[in-house]
Amino acid sequence: MNQPQSPSQSQNDTLFARAQKTTPGGVNSPVRAFRSVGGTPRFITRAEGPYFWDADGKRYIDYIGSWGPAIVGHAHPEVIKAVQDAAARGLSFGAPTEGEVLMAEEICRLVPSIEQVRLVSSGTEATMSALRLARGATGRDKIVKFEGCYHGHADSLLVKAGSGLLTFGNPTSAGVPEDFVKHTLVLNYNDVAQLEETFATMGDEIACVIVEPVAGNMNLIKAKPEFLQALRALCTKHGALLIFDEVMCGFRVGLTGAQGLYGITPDLTALGKVIGGGMPVAAFGGRAELMQNMSPVGPVYQAGTLSGNPVAVAAGMATLKLVQQPGFYEQLSAQTAKLAAGLTAAAKEAGIPFCADSQGGMFGIYFSAEVPNNYAEMMAGDRERFNRFYHAMLDEGVYFAPAAFEAGFVSAAHTDEVIEATIEAARRVFVTLA
Ligand code: PMP
Repeated sequence: MNQPQSPSQSQNDTLFARAQKTTPGGVNSPVRAFRSVGGTPRFITRAEGPYFWDADGKRYIDYIGSWGPAIVGHAHPEVIKAVQDAAARGLSFGAPTEGEVLMAEEICRLVPSIEQVRLVSSGTEATMSALRLARGATGRDKIVKFEGCYHGHADSLLVKAGSGLLTFGNPTSAGVPEDFVKHTLVLNYNDVAQLEETFATMGDEIACVIVEPVAGNMNLIKAKPEFLQALRALCTKHGALLIFDEVMCGFRVGLTGAQGLYGITPDLTALGKVIGGGMPVAAFGGRAELMQNMSPVGPVYQAGTLSGNPVAVAAGMATLKLVQQPGFYEQLSAQTAKLAAGLTAAAKEAGIPFCADSQGGMFGIYFSAEVPNNYAEMMAGDRERFNRFYHAMLDEGVYFAPAAFEAGFVSAAHTDEVIEATIEAARRVFVTLA
């Protein structure tokens, strides 16, 4: 099972060398390249439950779950069956299907603020389209985002974004004209005073505020309830729309997402990841009156050849069915909290400054004495120690997110035994990090 290979024999090395010849950096999404932690990315050959296997046949306990979607565990038989059945009926029609109606009905039923929804194929499309809708509906240009929040790679959102961009120390991408981002205001996460000041000076020009209500792209950082409450109140007062980007936290922190958790009703919500169960489905939705601005009934254009793809929707619907089983989120939250507590205790035994936090099936691990509240606090963590921890855990067969700026994900397949094995491995590793 875990057969270590010498570097010269490694299929991962061979594949990475080949990949870099035909693909920039050898990867199709930057954070996969291990640039932050160094070393060779693992090329994955298959996955099942809480595990995946790399090209050298080494097994890992997987704590990224495809960066969120694999909430019921990899290759869940019911999800695979739904995909196989759908695929057998045809892959894509470019015409509406009943599956899309069912998925829209399901999302509207489950997410409190959504009365109408449009399906797209990626989180980037969902946030980009929600933004266009907000600008179209309000007739305003300015948008507010928060430092360290990532909302996909649409031009006007690539300002001080998190995740892969933090990894590269490249907060604003090349190729984005200044003119495109001059309407994007970037504020500090969890800073109510700054928010109030901004709205006091230019509130009536702001089309929308977009926020990750549980942020997972600057490690895990939870919004303070008073921050989200202030956001809601200020947006309402000034006629700006509040967009919750729940691409990551939707159906991840609980069945009703962060909005259910905090009891806050956004005007628009972006969803992704879990609602596709590992296939490309994302969505944006909100009040019907707002969504009626979308083409073909309204003036805001948006479209997609593969939007609402029948095979992808089948995977998403099977996943959404599984997460509604009684006790699903209670169990997932308990397992995730167990992992966070176990890692914290193991670090403490070894005398390493470390803490961990979790929300539903998301967690953060920080090489700092306290859980951060914003981007600057998160960046102050000990990244060098994280990198050593990362590689030692990888050697132990535990795959965390390959950067200190990413949240981790637990699935329903992460049993007590799997969590215990992780904590045992961490115990062995922490003592080597002092
Ligand atoms: N919003 C958030 C909060 C995300 O975490 C991500 C992806 N990590 C996106 C948007 C973009 O989604 P995608 O990668 O599917 O385009």
